[in-house]
Amino acid sequence: MTKVFGLLGHPVGHSKSPLIHNDAFSSAGMDARYHAFDVKPEQVKAAVEGIRALQLAGCNVTVPHKIAVMDFLDEIDDEAKQIGAVNTIVNQGGRLIGYNTDGRGYVESLLEELGEPLADKNILVIGAGGAARGVVTALARHGVARLTITNRTLEKANALLDIAKSLNTEAEAISRDDAESKLGEYDVIINTTSIGMSPNTDESPLSLKKLAPGTIVSDLIYNPIETKLLKEAAQRGGRTLNGVGMFVNQAALSFEHWTGMKPNRQRMKELVVETLGGTSC
Ligand code: NAP
Repeated sequence: MTKVFGLLGHPVGHSKSPLIHNDAFSSAGMDARYHAFDVKPEQVKAAVEGIRALQLAGCNVTVPHKIAVMDFLDEIDDEAKQIGAVNTIVNQGGRLIGYNTDGRGYVESLLEELGEPLADKNILVIGAGGAARGVVTALARHGVARLTITNRTLEKANALLDIAKSLNTEAEAISRDDAESKLGEYDVIINTTSIGMSPNTDESPLSLKKLAPGTIVSDLIYNPIETKLLKEAAQRGGRTLNGVGMFVNQAALSFEHWTGMKPNRQRMKELVVETLGGTSC
């Protein structure tokens, strides 16, 4: 019987997940299909019950349902609990288990770019929304030296400090002005906000006037592939990392949870970049 996997989100029309997962299932010779389901917020419980009733093999969960689905699952792994959100559901014989692969997907892409451990790195995170929670949790679990978080709503940044501190990572929350003035101190700067995302491509979350050459500047956004922030970073001698790697890695980790197999991440990257009209990752 064909195995069916799905994406639960609202809206889902823009998603590249069906493209890369269906390609990965074909490449693995699996009789499986992945479909994007547009689930309205008031239908989340029914959608999760539908996974059991229709025997879907697994799902991804995206905005705005990553927190809401948690109430209806049978088990949630420790990292997803710490993050407070689920982006992957595995159906194990009717038992639904929730995972979060976003943060780890991001950290794997950062490690690929850095080519060295994170242990002595001083990192600035811009933003404190859902994606930031995953990134901060995964960075702290990797034992980074120090995390600084800046966010428009400072109380939300303060909430992220609790996650970092519970994982024995030194962390502080500061204003955007303070972050801009101390920019030269950071080894890695990560934008987790939606500022600069298409169609608002002329916006940037932070001034990079004080950027030290060689600093890694990273954006979770992958549409456009090169945000205004990354363009400015490159002009000022920074090393840049876009959100394609995170997107592909979180998808690959979901695929591994569902199938026990490793998909070809390079092929996934090429498919995403090709459909976004870009020329590189
Ligand atoms: P979210 O939970 O809604 O958080 C949005 C964040 O952006 C918050 O920190 C918010 O600040 C800030 N923000 C939004 N508009 C702002 C503005 N005009 N001025 C200042 N701050 C603003 O969203 P999310 O799920 O974390 O997603 C954030 C971004 O990450 C999106 O662009 C998404 O596409 C990207 N993302 C990429 C991947 C990937 O695989 N590459 C995965 C997940 C997310 P406040 O707290 O003050 O509202």
